[in-house]
Parts: sequence; structure tokens; C-alpha cells
Amino acid sequence: MLTSDWVPMPNRFLYLVVLQEAQPPRFVLHTTEFGLWMKTTSMGYLLAPSNNLIYAVTNGVVFHLLASLALMSHLRTMLTDPGSVPLGNPPGSDTVSYCFICRSAIPERAYHCIVCGRCIRKSDHHCPWVNNCVGEDNQKYFLLFTLYIGLISTHILLLLGIPILLSHARGEWNASSTVSPSGPILFLFLVALMGFLFALVMLCSQMCAIYRDKTITEMLYQNKRSQGRRSLWANMKAICGSRVSLAWLSPFHTPECHKSREHHDPA
Ligand SMILES: [Zn+2]
Ligand SMILES: [Zn+2]
Repeated sequence: MLTSDWVPMPNRFLYLVVLQEAQPPRFVLHTTEFGLWMKTTSMGYLLAPSNNLIYAVTNGVVFHLLASLALMSHLRTMLTDPGSVPLGNPPGSDTVSYCFICRSAIPERAYHCIVCGRCIRKSDHHCPWVNNCVGEDNQKYFLLFTLYIGLISTHILLLLGIPILLSHARGEWNASSTVSPSGPILFLFLVALMGFLFALVMLCSQMCAIYRDKTITEMLYQNKRSQGRRSLWANMKAICGSRVSLAWLSPFHTPECHKSREHHDPA
């Protein structure tokens, strides 16, 4: 998982070992807190009171499956080297420029991140939610993270909305009804809606960047070095793996191109 002399920030491990408020992983901790709260509330208020065991078990399994995939995607985005250029990297055949901040010869489409203090290959952006840059080698996991957060949020919105629509269809809810949702249910709805919108925006911006073969960094700085050299399909294969398979949807699977870079990069 690790390449060159890149090591995860100490705070990334701190997050795993001691769940305390440290400055950089604040967003990471809030993501975890929201996830745990959503799980407890969804199970306690939406599924546990159900009289239908099959409904409760099926939705419980779906929720936990999506939550596990989202958590794994989150961890891999956070702990995978995004494609850092080794500090003091000597000029090579792929060198196109020199970074005076980290004193490294850098290849095409590598940009310096002031948070990581390193140049990152095909740097997209530095994401506070994963406390890491999103770059060439962890973009797949970030895509999956936004995808599974979007699916979990959609699942919760459906669990909230379908019973309401059904009871409305049965005539149990009308203009004179005085029943109102409880505080936790209302807050769960707002959090799920926020998660859905966040995932939608991030997923759309990522797909737009992949379609144009330009990272968000390149779009922001109007960089003309990359001008959509490949098709969307070729770009997806470069990120997720050369063979289209279910492995594209798995955060446990490392694309072959990333494995070969790990193998060839000096330790
Ligand atoms: Zn640099
Ligand atoms: Zn960074």
C-alpha cells in the first residue's frame, strides 16, 4: 500500500488508535461520529420497531454491507499513498519540472500539496474528510467512498420515505393528522439528505474530472498540460483497473497498475 518514502501522517494512526479530537482529523472524526449515530438511529428507530422480521433483517444486512464498504473505502483513501513524489527525487526520463518546496524533480501532472508537504502525482485535491490528498493511487477508493455514502443515504431516505408514502396511500395520513416525526427521525432525515447531496456533488465532480481527464487542481488553475487525451472509459480503467469486473466496486481490491508502481518504486 505504501510507496517511496511516504508514510501516513501520525494523526491518521492516532485516529485509529485514540478517538480524540486532534486538529487535522477533525473532519475524519465527525465522519465516523455521524456514521455511528446514523447506524444506531436507523437500527433503533426504523428497523427494530418493525413487525416484519424479513423486512428488518434484509434492510439491516443491506445497511451494514454498505456501511462496511464505505468504511473500508474511507480507510483505504486515508491510508494509501496518493502518489507522492519521493523527497529530493532526482531528475529522470519522466521529469517535466522541479518543485522548490520539496526539492524534487516532478513528473507531468504532479502538484505540490501544502498540507501533505509533498508533490502528488495527478493530484486532484486535498480532502479533509479523509485527511489525505486524492491522487493517482487512491482516487478509486475516494470514488467508492462517495458512491457508498450516497447509497447509504439513499437507503435511509427510502426507509424513511416509503412507510410515509404507504400510510398516506392507505389514508392514514391526511391534512388533519396531528402525528409529527420525532426529533431523532427528523435529524436522521436531515443528515441522510446532507450525506446524499454531499455524495452527489463529489461523485459528479469526480466523474466530470475523469471525463475531461483533468483533475480538480488542473481545472482550478486552468492548467493546459492535460487536455483530455483519453476517453472516459480509458480514464476509468486507469483509475479502477484494466479489466472491467466487480473488483471495480471493491475497496479491498488494488488495481494492477497501482500494484506495479508499488513494486517498482524504491522503498
Ligand atoms: Zn513539491
Ligand atoms: Zn495533500
